Amino acid sequence: ILADPKANIACTYNPAHEINMVAKPVPTARKGEAIVHVRCTGICGSDVHFWKKGQVGPTMVVRDHCGAGHESAGEVIAIGEDVKNLSVGDSVAIECGVPCSRADCDYCRTGRYNACPAVVFFSTPPYHGTLTRYHAHPAAWLHKLPDNVTYEEGALCEPLAVVLAGFQRANVRMGDSVLVCGAGPIGLVSLLAARAAGCHPIVITDLFQSRLDFAQSLVPTAKTVRIDRSWTPQETAVKIRAAAGTPLKLALECTGAQSSIASAIYSLDFGGKVFVIGIGPNTQEYPFIHCSANEIDLQFQYRYADQYPKAIRLVAGGLIDLKPLVTHRFPLAKAVDAFHVAADPTQGSIKVHITDLS
Ligand code: NAD
Ligand code: ZN
Repeated sequence: ILADPKANIACTYNPAHEINMVAKPVPTARKGEAIVHVRCTGICGSDVHFWKKGQVGPTMVVRDHCGAGHESAGEVIAIGEDVKNLSVGDSVAIECGVPCSRADCDYCRTGRYNACPAVVFFSTPPYHGTLTRYHAHPAAWLHKLPDNVTYEEGALCEPLAVVLAGFQRANVRMGDSVLVCGAGPIGLVSLLAARAAGCHPIVITDLFQSRLDFAQSLVPTAKTVRIDRSWTPQETAVKIRAAAGTPLKLALECTGAQSSIASAIYSLDFGGKVFVIGIGPNTQEYPFIHCSANEIDLQFQYRYADQYPKAIRLVAGGLIDLKPLVTHRFPLAKAVDAFHVAADPTQGSIKVHITDLS
């Protein structure tokens, strides 16, 4: 079945922490839906987490086999009745969080649909993900890609949407001095976005020099600080402040680690803000008195609302170049191998992509 270029295959994980390719029926488009031939999917840390740990946080738990993938783009191959925004042949980015969109849902009606209690997020159990060949999706949640945006870039609009939601809420301004904590995909996209937004200086941290070297290859003007786990948050802050050379206004925290959040708090100037995109353990301790006496704001984020169109414009307009983030590519039939590479820190991957050009 894996060799059949027309079969609908999908990559799934299960509660026993196994990951497999499975066969699925080819879907047909119902009213308001389009069938997407998924051409590219990126592996996210949460996909690996669901596979290896069986849950993300206390509520999202793998209880049955579940399909992976939510960073996807593809080609529309069929549309159902009432679909007006798309045609067969269009390239689209797939927005995987589909809220209820009912007028009596306050969150949906007011545009904060990431809080919709009835959201279907493909790849969060029990909803299967988009790491499959053919996927049926509500057409309203497919975003057309212009000709100069590739499927790979369309897939990378998902992490960019995460980061842009943060930038909007954190109110990032031209000329802001910024700290980015963590140089994983989210930190690196934050770095690119901060540069595009006119922030300077930008300091980026990580535990690994290789990730910082990668960051500097993306944005040569970035200053880097390699974090030594033996440093206290106060000691780390001294190094970060020295690298910045000017008071820091905003930290974009992209690790979720308690020590990193504390270091960010100590690094900022009076009145600064630590914007936490990273997701960490259930409870954490923060230096309260330092926040209080320095009016340091702490702000958090849950996914995104209405960021895909902006992400696509930024990529299409050449302001943010996401292509260098893709370090590994696999065909769909080898998606399990792709997961093993993404999960193995010695492989040095940033973004692992699965493409299907069949
Ligand atoms: P990742 O694990 O690939 O990258 C994290 C990076 O942080 C790694 O390079 C790691 O070496 C570095 N790091 C870890 N501890 C550190 C420390 N103490 N100081 C400095 N660097 C440190 O993860 P990612 O895919 O880049 O995602 C980043 C975070 O964003 C994750 O916690 C993820 O769960 C979260 N996330 C949140 C949302 C949201 O909606 N809020 C959406 C997507 C991802
Ligand atoms: Zn809703």
